[in-house]
Amino acid sequence: MKQAILEKPKKIVFREAKKPEIADNEVLIKIKRVGICGSDIKAYYGKHPYIKCPIIQGHEFSGVVADLGRKVKKLRVGDKVTVRPQLVCGRCYLCKRGEYNICENLRVIGCQAEGAAQELLKVDSNLVVRLPKKMSFEEGAMVEPVAVAVHAVGRAGRIRGNKVLVLGAGTIGNLTAQVAKSLGAKSVMITDLSNIRLRIARECGVDFTVNVGRTSLPEHLEKHFGPSKADLIFECVGEEKTINQAISVARKGSRIVVVGVFDYKPRTDVGLVQDRELSLIGSLMYKAEDYDAAIKLINTGRIKLRPLMSRTFNFNDYPRAYRFLEKSGDRVMKVFMKF
Ligand SMILES: [Zn+2]
Ligand SMILES: [Zn+2]
Repeated sequence: MKQAILEKPKKIVFREAKKPEIADNEVLIKIKRVGICGSDIKAYYGKHPYIKCPIIQGHEFSGVVADLGRKVKKLRVGDKVTVRPQLVCGRCYLCKRGEYNICENLRVIGCQAEGAAQELLKVDSNLVVRLPKKMSFEEGAMVEPVAVAVHAVGRAGRIRGNKVLVLGAGTIGNLTAQVAKSLGAKSVMITDLSNIRLRIARECGVDFTVNVGRTSLPEHLEKHFGPSKADLIFECVGEEKTINQAISVARKGSRIVVVGVFDYKPRTDVGLVQDRELSLIGSLMYKAEDYDAAIKLINTGRIKLRPLMSRTFNFNDYPRAYRFLEKSGDRVMKVFMKF
């Protein structure tokens, strides 16, 4: 079977490998679609703080069950599936408390362990999640980023009736805004520097969009949300500028969820966190229940994924897909590899 390996930054090579042998509790998955996400792109350029080459990428994917270990009862060959790509130790303090998404020894399939950029992938059956029959493979490969958004919104606490500000209209920001809205937020505002991304956010039903490169965010907040501004703020970029924006536009008592991944240490005004009694909350990955919620939101059409699907490349064109991402900039959201 064929594998695509990110051998070093900006260099993907193909290799023939032996078909994996599965253990009693494992499932062999024939990969159908792999999504490329922001963290994959950071890793591709050698800029991700926690991903090192060489690596077989691919943590957002869908496929069909090709083979099953003897002890796997809940699946059948041919089932349409996705995978929750978390390899956790099960022994640390956090795993024992059920907070395995922040396991002390967490590794992620496609980031610190072999990913889905290959014809077949074997995984523990506990990580395999069956998809509804009518769900497309592209939608199936997007359950992972939707689950990131579901978890982030869950971290904010009460969402119903609240006014929500999302900073960053990339895939995760867009999905966070959509999930917040579909789970009962009163209204949702999203910001970006890209009019294309803001237009996509509007297509997805986000109430207010603000190009922060051209206009004043505090003014828009005041105009649309009133003097009480935003109850919840999601930082979905991972830049000093946006975390500072989150803290500076917060009103007293706002809750800020940090979803973006920072690859450097930002200088920020923690004094305001104290003085305004802000809550600064981190969000990492998801749990099994976030996957279930994500599948339900997609399957019932309560969130829109179509406007985010930019293009699909054949598996053999992996390097081309990255070149396409490089030259397309903000015109592209989600790119898939197809087998
Ligand atoms: Zn991702
Ligand atoms: Zn653990």
